[in-house]
Amino acid sequence: MTLFPDMVDYILGESIIGRARKNNFIDVRLHNIRDYSEDKHRRVDDTPYGGGKGMLMMAPPIYNCYSAILNEQAEESFVPESRRVIYMSPTGKVLNQKKAEELSKYDNLIILCGHYEGVDRRIVDEIVDEEISIGDFVLTGGEIPACILVDCVARLVDGVLSDPECHEKESISSGMLEYPQYTRPYEFHGVKVPDVLISGHHANIDKWRDESAKKLTEQNRPDLLEK
Ligand code: SAM
Repeated sequence: MTLFPDMVDYILGESIIGRARKNNFIDVRLHNIRDYSEDKHRRVDDTPYGGGKGMLMMAPPIYNCYSAILNEQAEESFVPESRRVIYMSPTGKVLNQKKAEELSKYDNLIILCGHYEGVDRRIVDEIVDEEISIGDFVLTGGEIPACILVDCVARLVDGVLSDPECHEKESISSGMLEYPQYTRPYEFHGVKVPDVLISGHHANIDKWRDESAKKLTEQNRPDLLEK
């Protein structure tokens, strides 16, 4: 649910996620909240009660949009227990890989993207299961955060990545950051690929990768090692 569906459609229409949509491994449906405005000028926002800067998205258009989605889903026999309603918001819990894995188990995520100063709290209290932030900073809208959420959840869905093992050894999933990787050319700006990687000795390669991953994690994310 967004005021800017084209923005989301564009980002989620490219590359791996775009292909996953075309091949029906995931289905992304965009709903323009403005289409559900009750106002003849299609207004969706108003000034906040109590004063303050900016505009807030009003509850009724969002609620109407949400109801239309539920009706559509009822016709397609979606299972309500496998649905999660999420509001992308800097006031939510910060997204991490564990949360992405948890959400990938649901069949159906309904994501609300705020804009302007956010949304009327009553809509969050009434329809939202959880608020998710993508980090401790504030963006102009929930569209980019929603794309980030969809991307990291979708790549955990069967069929989306060509090799299901792709994400198992990746940064964070494995509990550490990923080891450094190299490809052709063998020498770049005078720097050669580490000898061990062309040795063909798999035990040594694994050992080198484990040690390098640990070193990088110590340097950039010591908090992961503490965990
Ligand atoms: N006034 C709100 C506050 O202080 O919490 C910020 C509103 S922000 C300008 C507008 C919209 O962008 C929010 O409703 C939310 O949907 C989205 N947004 C901004 N930063 C975000 C973040 N870090 N994570 C997720 N969504 C975010």
